[in-house]
Amino acid sequence: MKKSFYDYSFNELENLLIENSLGTSAAQRLYNWHYKKKRNDQCDDSISKDTLKFLGKELHFELPVIDTVFEAEDRTVKFLFKLHDGCKVESVLIPFHNKYSLCLSSQVGCAMKCSFCYTGTQGLKRDLSTDEIVGQFLGAWRWLKENRPGEERILNIVFMGQGEPLHNFDAVKKACEIFLSNYGCSIGAQKITISTAGYIPGLKRWNDEMPRVNLALSLHSPFNTKRDQLIPINRKYPIEEVLEYVDNIPLSRKQFITYEYLLIANFNDGDEDAHKVGELLNGKEAYINLIPFNPFEGSTFKRPEHNVVEHFKEVLDSYKIPTLIRGTKGDDVLAACGQLNTAN
Ligand code: SAH
Repeated sequence: MKKSFYDYSFNELENLLIENSLGTSAAQRLYNWHYKKKRNDQCDDSISKDTLKFLGKELHFELPVIDTVFEAEDRTVKFLFKLHDGCKVESVLIPFHNKYSLCLSSQVGCAMKCSFCYTGTQGLKRDLSTDEIVGQFLGAWRWLKENRPGEERILNIVFMGQGEPLHNFDAVKKACEIFLSNYGCSIGAQKITISTAGYIPGLKRWNDEMPRVNLALSLHSPFNTKRDQLIPINRKYPIEEVLEYVDNIPLSRKQFITYEYLLIANFNDGDEDAHKVGELLNGKEAYINLIPFNPFEGSTFKRPEHNVVEHFKEVLDSYKIPTLIRGTKGDDVLAACGQLNTAN
């Protein structure tokens, strides 16, 4: 069976060419064509006949296709991508000043089963391959170029869609290498963020294997009793062990760890919770994202009132930890955090 071109990191592509006694210079041209220019037709930039023949025989260039596009009033765009086996995943373009952040999925469904997350209710169907991750980016970019010309500027990539990215470490890692490659997408490492529920087997590999991208930790509670109820893997990987690994990640200047804190009414939104978070993160290179819970059908949790969210932030401010209240973009098309679905 043919392998996908989009499954090859730059080094792997060079090696593939070398193994087949072909010149490596084609690797740069191909990366430039498919990732810099983001074209999906055949590269005609001085590629030798032998190389073209080899590519045609060994590789395919198919990508996930956009099945449905949902455009929200606030210009958020949610894509439903259809994969080769009929599985579907979602990605979301989040606008700010005619530029975009792109929220990518790393798995079909998710094995973490977090009690507040819609995606978690569906269980894990399968991992995404690198080409399926990179394909979401290329698909979203091309959609922008066609539908919002001049706005095809995706400045940030966040792995905060469906799935636990560290539970699909190898494919996510290689997708990051492709995003970072100077011959291709040239996205800066500081512009890529991988969010984890605290999956320690992946955190163990982070320092040695992952390129220097940013990490976000879904904290949601500083107390194990509550975190157990929100994130079942906390029972196996309790928060203090998770933080030991996170604290050991070397950070460059101006880099920080993002801590996501989902605020649920009358559950984890009290003073005691806020102070404990403040104490826990005090003195660390930390940035907190407060995310008011987005309701979905069947969930018993509720979103706190705005003044409760503001007060929670004030307590954290008193610890001098930079804290942002994340707006809920795209919720009229179920594109907000935790609302991503594969079943439609
Ligand atoms: N598995 C990874 C990546 C998924 S990102 C992780 O857990 O970090 C998931 C983010 O979406 C989490 O930070 C979570 O806070 C947010 N989220 C999930 N369900 C949500 C909901 N119903 N309302 C608001 N945010 C939600």
